Amino acid sequence: MKWDEYAKWGKHIAGWGADYHSSLADRPVRAQTAIGEIAAQIPMTPPESGEEMATILKDFDEVIMPGMTHWQHPRFFAYFPANATPPSMLAEQLVNTVAAQCMLWQTSPAATELEGVMVNWLRQALGLAVGFTGVIQDSASSATLSAVLTMRERATGFTGNKDGLSQKGHLRIYCSTEVHTSIDRACWVAGIGQANLVKIATKGPLFGMDADALDAAIRADIAAGHIPAGIIAITGGTGIGACDDLRAVLRVAQAHDLYTHLDAAWAGSAMICPEFRDTFWAGVDSFDSIVFNPHKWLGAQFDCSVQFLRDATPQLNTLKIEPEYLKTSGEEVVNYSEWTIPLGRRFRALKIWFLLRSYGLDDLRRRIRNHVAWAEALCARIRAMEGFEICSDPILSLFTFRAPGDDAAQQRLVDAINDDGRIYVTQGSHAGRKVIRFQVGQFDTTEDDVMMAETVIAEVWEQIK
Ligand SMILES: *Cc1c(COP(=O)(O)O)cnc(C)c1O
Repeated sequence: MKWDEYAKWGKHIAGWGADYHSSLADRPVRAQTAIGEIAAQIPMTPPESGEEMATILKDFDEVIMPGMTHWQHPRFFAYFPANATPPSMLAEQLVNTVAAQCMLWQTSPAATELEGVMVNWLRQALGLAVGFTGVIQDSASSATLSAVLTMRERATGFTGNKDGLSQKGHLRIYCSTEVHTSIDRACWVAGIGQANLVKIATKGPLFGMDADALDAAIRADIAAGHIPAGIIAITGGTGIGACDDLRAVLRVAQAHDLYTHLDAAWAGSAMICPEFRDTFWAGVDSFDSIVFNPHKWLGAQFDCSVQFLRDATPQLNTLKIEPEYLKTSGEEVVNYSEWTIPLGRRFRALKIWFLLRSYGLDDLRRRIRNHVAWAEALCARIRAMEGFEICSDPILSLFTFRAPGDDAAQQRLVDAINDDGRIYVTQGSHAGRKVIRFQVGQFDTTEDDVMMAETVIAEVWEQIK
């Protein structure tokens, strides 16, 4: 392709994008396709000769787009949001165009230096203490794996990487029963094993881990000859938004000299609002590692996950490897690929820069506050619906509910709502029962969009009950 053609199609796609976004509210949120329907429309073999971009884009519209679920739809209430604001999209277009691989300072000094400044901007935005540094990763899963590997190495005197784990005894990691599966998988692949991930029961209105039970579990493990390695806490679990009492967890961690990681992948963004910090964030400054995803609630296009580190040294001692071909001449520079598992790195800081400068923190705070208020208002309306039950009250903007009937009835309602297409919700489980999850967090959602959910849920329930 010639560059003048690239410019032509680039403009075309920018226009297409604006049209797409202004038509989103009229589309069904979740793709309405059957399994295999899209693949069946695509040739089984690659073309031998090139095709026109016009033809390719026509197929994109006709074959691919009907099979897309619209994450930027204002009535996306499923999972957690993956907000992509227009300024962050523009930044991504620039990143894609310059197409630099930013593994070392010298492979793009601007990318490394902007990353350092953006981590520091976000540190301040979230109310974290001076002294935290950090790194931008692709996902919270990667950041959590980095933290678990650091726990493993720290607990083995930094010999696990060198000698392997066969002589190391049972390394133990502790978390609550409300954590995301990325914690389980981090323990699998770090060689800790599911059996050595100790899940502590929760209590209280925020479903935080029981600190006395945590302490007892650690003591029992030490008595049994096991090696406690670290604790993973959560602010905003995926199922119902569970939040640990950070100070209580830290007291136990400090008593046993354990490394601590905090998973705030979703709820971390809400901590730009100071009024939430007392309830959800008190004590946070003593965590060794904290992850949050600006690509969820904040509006930085996927993917963008920030890991803050109180002291980067243990993680660097765990992950840094420097073959000759990666050595950079003498100076004291930051090479972020030494902080993470992948070597290659995208330039993710640019979209944070564009996002924060375009909106400013005040605008972002206003949106999150609205989401929380609207979730509470909708929750009150669903509570008042005949036979409906709230299973977990809103934690920030997430709550769960049930319609009358058994677990199968809940799934039927979820499926029927999503077939209807006006809103999108997903199921979860809480206290051993299937529940319907509802979170408010899409960047452009309005109060009317959120309240429409009551109408849709009531209408669909009438049809299927
Ligand atoms: C979304 C989420 C994750 C996983 O995030 P990825 O960036 O997709 O790996 C982990 N923990 C919590 C609490 C989450 O909400």
